[in-house]
Amino acid sequence: MNIHEYQAKELLAKFGIGVPTGYPALTVEEAVEAAGKLPGPLYVVKAQIHAGGRGKGKFKELPADAKGGVRLAKSVEDVRKDAGEMLGNTLVTVQTGDAGKQVNRLYVTDGVDIAKEYYLSMVVDRATSRVAMIVSTEGGMDIEEVAHSTPEKIHTITIDPATGFMPHHGRSVAYALKLDGALAKEAQKLSAKLYEAFTALDCDMLEINPLVETEDGKLLVLDTKMSFDSNALYRHPDVEAMRDETEEDPMEVEAGKYDLAYIKLDGDIGCMVNGAGLAMATMDIIKLNGSFPANFLDVGGGATTEKVTAAFKIILSDPAVKGILVNIFGGIMRCDTIAEGIVIAAKEVELDVPLVVRLEGTNVQQGKDILANSGLPIIPADDLGDAARKIVAEVKEAA
Ligand code: GDP
Ligand code: MG
Repeated sequence: MNIHEYQAKELLAKFGIGVPTGYPALTVEEAVEAAGKLPGPLYVVKAQIHAGGRGKGKFKELPADAKGGVRLAKSVEDVRKDAGEMLGNTLVTVQTGDAGKQVNRLYVTDGVDIAKEYYLSMVVDRATSRVAMIVSTEGGMDIEEVAHSTPEKIHTITIDPATGFMPHHGRSVAYALKLDGALAKEAQKLSAKLYEAFTALDCDMLEINPLVETEDGKLLVLDTKMSFDSNALYRHPDVEAMRDETEEDPMEVEAGKYDLAYIKLDGDIGCMVNGAGLAMATMDIIKLNGSFPANFLDVGGGATTEKVTAAFKIILSDPAVKGILVNIFGGIMRCDTIAEGIVIAAKEVELDVPLVVRLEGTNVQQGKDILANSGLPIIPADDLGDAARKIVAEVKEAA
């Protein structure tokens, strides 16, 4: 799960990590009010969306030469003007895709005089089973580009969970950032606190870009992105409360309510399958037959009629879906239960695209009978290959 920059900074501040003072705002008036609480004369108005590259982003509704999603403002009146231009408009960045993201929240912060920008991130590194701290002197800019053209400028320090963060890790961070004296000490303290925050909050990613050295010799987190291990969220109700569902795919949010594993894809054949492996195989075979899946959907082992109905509705709410392939192996779940679910769901949602169903396993004959006697135009299939060929042919014919 991802959260907004302002929320991540609130969390980091609780661990004693330095961030510029700032306030979130949902309206122009709130943005002006926020600026009023800050000392000035420099303010920063920042679009809060779950994507980076905001500074260089472009607003769809504004002229091409308009400023991006991170704006320096020199007066409260400029804050008002910038907030008015940003709120409600669509920001397109390298990370949002062409559709962009609507800006519904702003963060108004105290403007910082920057002496130098650094990069620091943390991830769970599966290869070493450790938390890796990745640091570079080349902050503020596109870190992928740095990694590509000057990989020697990126340093990775891994932390053994058995020892936790040790003083030598902090010294390595300071050394990699080419800091000395008081700033080096500060970097050591900061990196220890970041490790503490990362592990205590069950993060799976924390990126600070840029981490800045201020003109008066302090280290501050100027921009941060934070994401959490969803399986550990039950331990952090305060973090879970920060979820902003408007930033997530609405169909994926709906699927989450029914405990369905759903991921939207670009094709036109909706899939409903039980088991992730079978779902992958189903997507592969659709591709092999010349079409593309519209989604990945695993209804799980214990799907109920209610779950199947929800899954159907989710698939059909995607206007790109031109046909549906249901591929179920009845093991723990019996084929007749699934068939009943399909019939109820198909009647409830007024199915208007071809539906091919392949059932196999426990009570398969009862399941097939239920489908055949339902009066619905369901196309039965004998095996996975047959099912894929049939749905691809149906969709191509209808096109
Ligand atoms: P991003 O574009 O989404 O990564 O947003 P950032 O928060 O990283 O802001 C982009 C850039 O704007 C930073 O790299 C800084 O160069 C600049 N910026 C952001 N906040 C300030 C600030 O307080 N003072 C100054 N001088 N520049 C800032
Ligand atoms: Mg940034």
